[in-house]
Amino acid sequence: MDLLAKHAHFVERHKRMIELGVKDVGVCVDEILSPTRAMIKGRETVLAGTNNYMGITFNEACIEAGKHALDVCGTGTTGSRMANGNYAMHAKLEAELAKFLNREQVIVFTTGYQANLGMISGLAGAKDTVYLDADSHASIYDACSVSGAQLVRFRHNDPDNLAKRLARANDAGETGRLVVLEGIYSMFGDRAPLKEFIDVKREYGYTLLLDEAHSFGVLGENGRGLADEAGLEDEVDFVVGTFSKSIGSIGGFGASNHPMFNVLRYAARAYMFTASSSPATIATSSAALRQLSEHPELRDRLRHNSTRLHRGFKDLGLKMCCDEVSPVVAVFVDDEPSTITMWNALLEEGVYVNLALPPGTPNSSCLLRCSVSAAHTDDDIDKIIAMFANVVASRQNKAAE
Ligand code: PMP
Repeated sequence: MDLLAKHAHFVERHKRMIELGVKDVGVCVDEILSPTRAMIKGRETVLAGTNNYMGITFNEACIEAGKHALDVCGTGTTGSRMANGNYAMHAKLEAELAKFLNREQVIVFTTGYQANLGMISGLAGAKDTVYLDADSHASIYDACSVSGAQLVRFRHNDPDNLAKRLARANDAGETGRLVVLEGIYSMFGDRAPLKEFIDVKREYGYTLLLDEAHSFGVLGENGRGLADEAGLEDEVDFVVGTFSKSIGSIGGFGASNHPMFNVLRYAARAYMFTASSSPATIATSSAALRQLSEHPELRDRLRHNSTRLHRGFKDLGLKMCCDEVSPVVAVFVDDEPSTITMWNALLEEGVYVNLALPPGTPNSSCLLRCSVSAAHTDDDIDKIIAMFANVVASRQNKAAE
C-alpha cells in the first residue's frame, strides 16, 4: 500500500495548474527588495499578498536589534523554554507584550500556529466542547483535534447559530465550553461581530478565546485588535496573536488575566516540546512592538491604503468578499481555472497576490486575496488596481472573441 496514494488529488491539481500556465506552485521570491517589492522570475514585482501589514520587515531599528542579538546571544537557543531555551529576552518580550495588550500574563510561542495549538489544547480537554466558527483557521481546527475535545461548528459569524448550539448542549455546566473567534478572518477580511457574540456569552456562559492574528497591531485605538476596536477587551478571556504579520517576524503569543494562566506553560505541549524562538527573532519582535507603540500613524496609513484598494476594486466591479474595509481585500472569481489564470496573469503583469483555493477557503470559494501594507504608497495601490483592471479587461476581450 502506497501511503502517499491518498494525496493523488494534489498531484492532479498541480498538473492542472501547470497546464493553465503556472510555472511553479508556491512562488519563489528570488530577491526581496523591500516590504512591498521583490524580484520574481526576473521581474520587479509589487507585493500585495504578504500580510506585512505594518511594512516593518526592513525597519532599521528592528534589523539592528536582530543583528545585535545574533552577535551577543548566538544563532539559536537549541532548546525549549522549559529546558535550556529560556533567555531573559523571552521573558522581557512577554512583559512588553503584557503592557501593550494591557493583560496580566503573556506566554510567547515559537509560531502563531503553535500558539493556537498550545492555548486551545491546553484550555480544552476530552470532557470539554470547543465551538468553532466554520471559517476558523487550520491551526484552530488542528488545535481542537489535538485537545481531544468535542468539536461543534457554528455558521460563520452567526451568533444566533452559536446560541442554538449552546442551548442544545444540555450539559448543565458540567463540561467546559470554549468558543474560538477571529478578529479578522484571514480569507475574506471580515471581522467577527464581537458584541453580538458577547451577548450570547452573557446569556449562555462560555470561555472566549479571540485569535487576533490579523487584527493585532491593526485594529483599535491602541492597536490591540478587534476587542480594542469594539471596546470589549474585558469580555475576552484569552487572546492569541502572531508575530508573522504586523510584527514582521515569526512567533506567537497567548494572553490573559486569568490568575492560573501560567499553568499553560506546563499543560501546553506546543510550548513545552519545541525549541524557543531564536534570539534574533525575539529581539526583532521586541523592536517591532516598540514601533507599533510609538508609531500609531502606521495604522492610519494602513487604513488609508486598505480603503483605497477596496474602493478601487469595487469601482472595477469586482465581486468583493467583504463590504467592510480591512487590510485583507479579497475578491471572488467564478471557478478554479479562471482564478489560476488570473493569478498567473497578475504575476506576469508584475503584482503578487494570494491564490486562495479550496480546501483552504470558506464554502469552497475561489479567491484572489490581497493584503495591504502601511508601506504601500498611493501609487503602489493605484498600480495594483490598474493591473487588476488590465487582467479583467483582457479576460473580457477573450470571452467576447
Ligand atoms: N491564526 C490565524 C487566523 C492565521 O491566519 C494564521 C496564519 N496565517 C495563524 C493563526 C498562524 O500563524 P503563523 O503563520 O504565524 O504561525
